[in-house]
Amino acid sequence: MKMVFLGPPGAGKGTVAAKAKDYYSIPHISTGDLFRNNIKNETELGKQVKAILASGSLVPDSITIEMVRQRIAEPDCEKGFILDGFPRTIAQADALADMVELDAVVNFVISNEEVVERLSGRRMCPSTGRIYHVKFNPPKVEGKDDETGEDLIQRDDDKPEAILHRLDVYAEQTEPLINYYREKGILKDVLTSNSMNPDKVFEATKAILK
Ligand code: ADP
Ligand code: ADP
Repeated sequence: MKMVFLGPPGAGKGTVAAKAKDYYSIPHISTGDLFRNNIKNETELGKQVKAILASGSLVPDSITIEMVRQRIAEPDCEKGFILDGFPRTIAQADALADMVELDAVVNFVISNEEVVERLSGRRMCPSTGRIYHVKFNPPKVEGKDDETGEDLIQRDDDKPEAILHRLDVYAEQTEPLINYYREKGILKDVLTSNSMNPDKVFEATKAILK
């Protein structure tokens, strides 16, 4: 199964992908995680994109497309993959169409108010990328990862100024992809809200992919 998870920042793409990758036995490819790992490891790419991620703007298409091209050429992607956070522009979607034929695009639908609440409470384990929420999905011990015990962090771009900018970027550059994929007949909407826990959202996702 070759699929894309689409939706605004905070829609729950990463949370559902963490469950779906085990269920479908395919890799979860988050372009945000790939960039953050490069930043952490201080690679050339990491140095190029650090300030862009902190501001909440998009990394240039050429850099992002090349990174994805290399990742999905790896052998573990032969049977499929979940792309989370890519494509985010029409140019990226066109480039992806030249690389692979997608089976489905899952569009996670959520209100703007709920997105702000989710992003401002999001916490992350810096080494594993595991995602928490202070209210909706708290760790067992406050501020610590459940498995490694590491201190959880708040991403720079989950601070208020960057959140609002990211929502504008989403509306301008990424939202047009909804119609792009709807017209291709492969878009599947999953309606979500904070009253639906991640397991319920995953059940809805599985059902729509059947
Ligand atoms: P979220 O999960 O909140 O939507 P991500 O972790 O997917 O955020 O992305 C974090 C940041 O990484 C983005 O704000 C952007 O700077 C960069 N990024 C991730 N994916 C892409 C992409 N497909 N194109 C351009 N920039 C990207
Ligand atoms: P995305 O990858 O789309 O940016 P995440 O999966 O990182 O979104 O989720 C954003 C925040 O919302 C995280 O703090 C996560 O714990 C929380 N979250 C995810 N799914 C739900 C849900 N169904 N209900 C409430 N909070 C959720």
